[in-house]
Amino acid sequence: MKPEMKPWIAAIHAYVPGTSHAADGRALVKLSANENPLGTSEKALAARAAAPGPAEYPDPGSTELREALAALHGLDPARLVCGTGSDELLNLAAQAFAGPGDEVIHVRYGFAVYDIAARRCGATVVVAPDADFGTGVDALLGCLTERTRVIFIANPNNPTGTYLSRAELERLHAGLPGHVLLVIDQAYADYLAPGEDDGGFALAAAHGNVLVTRTFSKIYGLAGERIGWATGAPDLIGALNRIRGPFNVTVSGQRAAVAALADQAFIEASREHNRAERARFVEAIAALGNHGLRAVPSETNFVLVLFEGALAAERALEGLAARGYAVRHLPGQGLPQALRITVGTRAQMDEVAAALREMAEAAR
Ligand code: PMP
Repeated sequence: MKPEMKPWIAAIHAYVPGTSHAADGRALVKLSANENPLGTSEKALAARAAAPGPAEYPDPGSTELREALAALHGLDPARLVCGTGSDELLNLAAQAFAGPGDEVIHVRYGFAVYDIAARRCGATVVVAPDADFGTGVDALLGCLTERTRVIFIANPNNPTGTYLSRAELERLHAGLPGHVLLVIDQAYADYLAPGEDDGGFALAAAHGNVLVTRTFSKIYGLAGERIGWATGAPDLIGALNRIRGPFNVTVSGQRAAVAALADQAFIEASREHNRAERARFVEAIAALGNHGLRAVPSETNFVLVLFEGALAAERALEGLAARGYAVRHLPGQGLPQALRITVGTRAQMDEVAAALREMAEAAR
């Protein structure tokens, strides 16, 4: 006799994180987890260092952090909840609104956590076809049934980098019955150009069935602290507050995040660095089009490169590792022909582009 895992838990494939080491144990430059190559705001680091020691529990409501977020984004702090990374909040959203017999929809090539979040509460996962690697509104709406409870979309999306316009997102929401929760995961929204906005906050403010999630793990350079947040109608936030970890954001994390929000100069510099280096890298990939390499248009801090010529993605992955770089290969997500490459420093991106050129020219 032994404890028996629930069948829906046994069906889960554990999340595979981006690597930072080669098969032989060598440390690699990590362009596999979409972290900020500029690191973290100095002000955030100072606030983290000055935070009270860990003997006492943190503020369970992340009050100061919610107030700072609300002030920056023009939101109501009572309609915000913080989480141990946005991962916690994505899982809670599924758990609070879906269970056995219910359906949770995400797009093909959606973020891997959606599948896990749906399965771990016993719900059935429904995968909508992609629209040329992006999110297709008609495909999502076509998957609706009377059992649908939650739709997850990342905008911009990981691992493809694609972006759904405000008009399309509004059309998606308009096509949903009020009892279907639309989760708009904006983990990469900070990389959009100023003025570019999918309207997620406005939808979450106006409707009872929209939850927007965000993270400090990407442009804010605080992935190691595990801080995310969500905004939505009071009933949605109330549901997440019932089931979240009571002390789910650390003392140092709350302090660092508040200081990071106040240092928007660092965020702007990170966004500009990403815009410029992504453009250079995409141009370098475009120049390899005759070798079958192609970049999916990206609005994020990574680029999905497709390998449709003599150089296979798997061989490029090995070749980059031999040259000291870890990037992301996602055959388990239906992308055996692609590598997801985080935008690093200029020197790193030039080296990766040169390595890809060398390998593509040698391949036959
Ligand atoms: N959503 C998306 C689309 C992501 O890519 C990630 C990070 N891989 C997350 C959410 C989760 O980030 P975190 O838990 O670090 O906030």
